[in-house]
Amino acid sequence: MQFHHSLKNYNTFGIDVKARQFVDITTTKQLKEVLRENNDKLPLFVLSGGSNMLLTKDVDALVLHINTKGIEVIKEDDEFVWIETQAGEIWHDFVLHTLAQNLGGLENLSLIPGKTGSSPIQNIGAYGVEIKDTFHSLEALNLETLEVETFSNADCKFGYRESVFKNDLKGKYIITSVTFKLKKAPHILHTSYGAIQQELNTMNIENPTIKDVSNAVIAIRQSKLPDPKEIGNSGSFFKNPIISKELYQQLITKNPGIPHYPVNETEVKVPAGWLIEHSGLKGFRKGDAGVHTKQALVLVNYGNASGQELIDLAHFVQQTVFEKFGIMITPEVNII
Ligand SMILES: Cc1cc2nc3c(=O)[nH]c(=O)nc-3n(C[C@H](O)[C@H](O)[C@H](O)COP(=O)(O)OP(=O)(O)OC[C@H]3O[C@@H](n4cnc5c(N)ncnc54)[C@H](O)[C@@H]3O)c2cc1C
Repeated sequence: MQFHHSLKNYNTFGIDVKARQFVDITTTKQLKEVLRENNDKLPLFVLSGGSNMLLTKDVDALVLHINTKGIEVIKEDDEFVWIETQAGEIWHDFVLHTLAQNLGGLENLSLIPGKTGSSPIQNIGAYGVEIKDTFHSLEALNLETLEVETFSNADCKFGYRESVFKNDLKGKYIITSVTFKLKKAPHILHTSYGAIQQELNTMNIENPTIKDVSNAVIAIRQSKLPDPKEIGNSGSFFKNPIISKELYQQLITKNPGIPHYPVNETEVKVPAGWLIEHSGLKGFRKGDAGVHTKQALVLVNYGNASGQELIDLAHFVQQTVFEKFGIMITPEVNII
């Protein structure tokens, strides 16, 4: 247990705030012991990779840094393998592990920062794939009873960057392990989204494997997204707004070229990055808080920005986009 511990190296924005108490959790047994000893005295704060949060003040809580390790095949048939990961495994290392076993399903999600236990919280997604597509179940510790419970795919109520753990069950469970159902060869590839096919062409690959798709995704991400080790950020700061087709029709008359992706019969998704860029904010900077110069959806900390400065910038971006397009974009990042 550490007291007044700096969280600067535990969040990808690199915000220097302190945790009142901090403990590194390496087993579920230890997690239960720590919780029993805490006995409701201090509020709890679960921290995994810190890549989806903006810390705006000191965390006056017992910070549980999830660092449990272990990957295990728990079941297998002719077509699929069920593979379980403890919550503290690094997401990208887990993806590489599955690819090395020639298991398909996670290749489009390569290089997303963070840990496996947090992947269901916002149903992480990229390049046309979300974890809900291969997620089988998870185990989570109920913070009231300290019993481990199992959640199926349906129980998690996954949506676009959403799950029950961000809504009704927020703060009520700690995810301890996640099981994915991954496909043995022959694989089903998803290469139509974004620039994956173009990247494969550049790589001169005609019949791609899942490893090739992963490499293409990694190359695209590295060329587009700032590396948090070099410049503090939390990936996409805002969600892509989902709007009615009527509103989209009104917008396109004034803004020809506004991109959209169908969601259902009545709604479309519009890229928030495009809206921010076309509000004139790409590369905007105030002090050390800024909108990234290459990808307007990403807010960055150029060095010593405080959480408050970044939140002020986020509000300014929301307001400017609203004035220009009449759409209120909302944060994807957890603001604390
Ligand atoms: C450069 C960059 C690129 C990114 N690209 C993508 C992308 O393409 N797609 C995407 O979906 N996301 C993306 N993200 C966001 C982020 O990587 C994911 O949301 C990731 O799943 C967060 O994991 P984490 O371990 O860092 O979670 P943290 O930031 O530590 O936690 C996130 C939230 O979950 C809670 N939490 C964490 N662990 C647990 C647990 N075990 N049990 C219960 N609650 C828990 C925390 O309290 C917090 O509220 C990106 C981030 C960065 C910095």
